[in-house]
Amino acid sequence: MSSDDNDTPSRRQVMGGLATGIAAVFSTTASAQQDGGAPARPEVPLRNPVTLYPKPPFPSQTQPWPGLASKMQPRPDHGETSYKGSGRLQGRKALITGGDSGIGRAAAIAYAREGADVAINYLPAEEPDAREVVALIKEAGRKAVALPGDIRNEAFCRKLVADAVKGLGGLDILVNNAAKQQTQDSILDVTTEQFDTTVKTNLYAMFWITKAAMPHLKPGSAIINTTSVNAYDPSENLLDYAMTKGGIMIFTKALARQVAKQGIRVNGVAPGPFWTPLQVSGGQTQENLVKFGQDTPMGRPGQPAELAGVYVELASAGASYTTGQIYGASGGRGNP
Ligand code: NAD
Ligand code: MG
Repeated sequence: MSSDDNDTPSRRQVMGGLATGIAAVFSTTASAQQDGGAPARPEVPLRNPVTLYPKPPFPSQTQPWPGLASKMQPRPDHGETSYKGSGRLQGRKALITGGDSGIGRAAAIAYAREGADVAINYLPAEEPDAREVVALIKEAGRKAVALPGDIRNEAFCRKLVADAVKGLGGLDILVNNAAKQQTQDSILDVTTEQFDTTVKTNLYAMFWITKAAMPHLKPGSAIINTTSVNAYDPSENLLDYAMTKGGIMIFTKALARQVAKQGIRVNGVAPGPFWTPLQVSGGQTQENLVKFGQDTPMGRPGQPAELAGVYVELASAGASYTTGQIYGASGGRGNP
């Protein structure tokens, strides 16, 4: 959590709530021990999700694509100071595309704190964000493998999987999460180049990486694909992107049926509006960015940290009967 976040009113409220919660923990523990019972576990403070994180209006801002989380105002919360693991992925080996920032970074931090070794892929321009993630994985006592490169290239995708397997000593969790999203008001403004890059990044790369990973995945392994609320409720200015997110959703369901008997589970996550670099590097118009998340019942966008638990759950053995499902998180709007 950066110092800028500490200045927001909602952050102060959270910290105030935490302080009250911590006081409550001490009193509960003390009274349980006084009564001669077993020491009570610390209580998890109740927190209101509506006031937990920043709300619009957000400062108008743009970054050249692909953008850096470290330069966003306010900085997104990826769980750096908050995510606590409990060994749910002990010994697992995970590859996460787009693991440098946003939702992929929240998954990377959570996986490491749950006991997994983690390889992340990202673009070379994102090295500053990636370095922070590598440091956090190592701080969690796990192995971090940094694999920069452009997944629009099939040969690179094959090499990425081979290098992840080599670096981690195997692979049992694959998170296809990288994506390209550029807003255009009209189909007339979507160039063939943009269309091609969106489809290559969001669909071809998922296909190439999954295909390369499949021979390495043993029964019990899990694939998680990041789709979007746009797969169900498309934004009119995200025509090409929404189309690929629909494709990811149905690829997830079809592959899940195909590989179920191999003991490999395939699920998807469909986020609504989340505060990430994708949105400030061409993913939204400035008009929409300033009021980002306002039209959800919660009245705010999600923070990447709020999805970490979902990625952990879908990867973990606890979800052993869950495959071909899409988990939505949209602050009350959208599907599934
Ligand atoms: P993000 O910008 O933090 O992550 C996207 C990542 O994609 C980048 O960090 C980059 O490393 C990677 N990437 C893009 N093009 C690449 C390429 N050619 N080669 C290698 N890597 C490339 O943003 P995010 O919002 O966390 O995005 C993660 C996923 O969440 C995406 O699939 C996105 O579609 C999805 N999603 C986001 C939102 C949202 O509101 N932020 C909503 C629904 C779905
Ligand atoms: Mg990034």
